[in-house]
Parts: sequence; C-alpha cells; structure tokens
Amino acid sequence: MSLMRLAYASEATFEAKPVEKGVEPHVARILMTSRRNNAKGKLVGGLYYGNNRFFQYLEGEEDEVRKTFDRILKDERHRNVVTLIEEPLEDRTFSNWSMKYVPLSRDVRRFLESQGLEAFEPASFTSDQCEDMIELVRNSSHDQKLVNHDDTRTVGDTPQAFSPGLKAGLIAAALCLLGALFFAGSML
Ligand code: FAD
Repeated sequence: MSLMRLAYASEATFEAKPVEKGVEPHVARILMTSRRNNAKGKLVGGLYYGNNRFFQYLEGEEDEVRKTFDRILKDERHRNVVTLIEEPLEDRTFSNWSMKYVPLSRDVRRFLESQGLEAFEPASFTSDQCEDMIELVRNSSHDQKLVNHDDTRTVGDTPQAFSPGLKAGLIAAALCLLGALFFAGSML
C-alpha cells in the first residue's frame, strides 16, 4: 500500500451566508460529510475556506485519496479546481484529523501579509506557499465548533428528550398536582 498527498484550490459556487458563530452552513455540511468519510477511509488533512475560496490538503492511502478527490471534483459546490500538489508520501504528517478546518484566522492573514498577498487566492500559490499553508493548517490549534445548520444542534450534542417549553409545562403541571394533593389532604 502506498501513501500519497494532494492539495488543490477551488472557488465556492455558493454565496456565503453570514454567521454569528460556528462555520458557514455550506462549509459546515461539507466538513461533516468529510469528517465522516475521511475517518472511514483513514484520510487526514485540512480545509481552509476564505474569500469564497477553498484550499484543501489530503493525505492517506493512494486509492482512498484518489476516490475521494474524484467525488470532490464532481461536487457542484465549487468550481475551477486547480491541483497544486499530487505526489507520493513516505510517512503520514497529520495525526488524528479526518479534516481539520481553519477559518480566516490571524495566522493566515499574517501569512498572506508576509507574502505580500492582498487576498486569499490559493490557485496562484507557489509550491513554497502551498507548503507554508499546509504547515499552518497542521499547526493550527484553531478548529471552530461545527453547527449542524439543518437542525441547529451543535455537532456532538445529544438530542434533548424534552424541549425547554415542554419541560416548563411539565414542571408547572407537577406543581399544580402537588398543590391539589396538599389542598385535598388539608381538607381531610
Ligand atoms: P452524502 O451522504 O451522499 O451527502 C452528504 C450531504 O452533502 C447531503 O446533505 C447531500 O445533500 C450533500 N451533498 C452531497 N453532494 C452535494 C452536492 N454536489 N451539492 C450540494 N450538496 C451536496 N468529501 C469527502 O468525503 N472528503 C473530503 O475531504 C471532502 N472535501 C470536500 C471539499 C470541498 C471543497 C467540497 C466542495 C466537497 C468536499 N467533499 C468531501 C464532499 C464531496 O464532494 C462529496 O459530496 C461527498 O464525498 C459525498 O459523500 P457521501 O456520498 O457520503 O455524501
């Protein structure tokens, strides 16, 4: 079995929705699917999204990386995919990350500034800039909490058996019942 690594840049086709917390909803959905699939396929890597552009790095068994990239290429949520790195790899360099997500962080802004780049345009990165980006994703301790925008539950939360409204209603009913019992008892 041989390992390989792959990095590409692309442009998002969706209009980014402003979010108060968590990750942009389209990106959050992509991340949830990626984390599920990549964990199964033992793929690791990172995804950067900013300026409506993606930069993604993947490493793992060659057939898994290629299968995944074939699916990614067909995805209509992005276009103009430019492959930046596609080569064999001796050892894995990411640990424990099925897909690490780095938002527009201070680190990335600092990196762009240091390179004299005004905007995040990963399709025109040089190979050294790609390596710097991968290093940045690898070392980033930043991983925003994902919010499942389909049901507004934070990923990892366990579903609540009762809604807050129902809970309050049940407590009020229990208190009424207790009151009634107490009143009935005092009448005897
Ligand atoms: P499904 O379970 O069939 O779909 C998961 C969810 O995504 C569903 O809600 C479905 O409606 C939605 N969805 C799927 N395809 C589309 C689409 N074309 N347009 C709109 N919604 C869609 N997948 C990975 O497995 N690993 C990755 O690392 C990875 N990285 C990605 C990076 C980018 C920038 C993009 C755009 C996509 C990436 N994907 C990745 C997603 C990939 O393109 C496929 O959508 C996914 O792998 C399909 O897997 P599935 O059959 O298990 O998903």
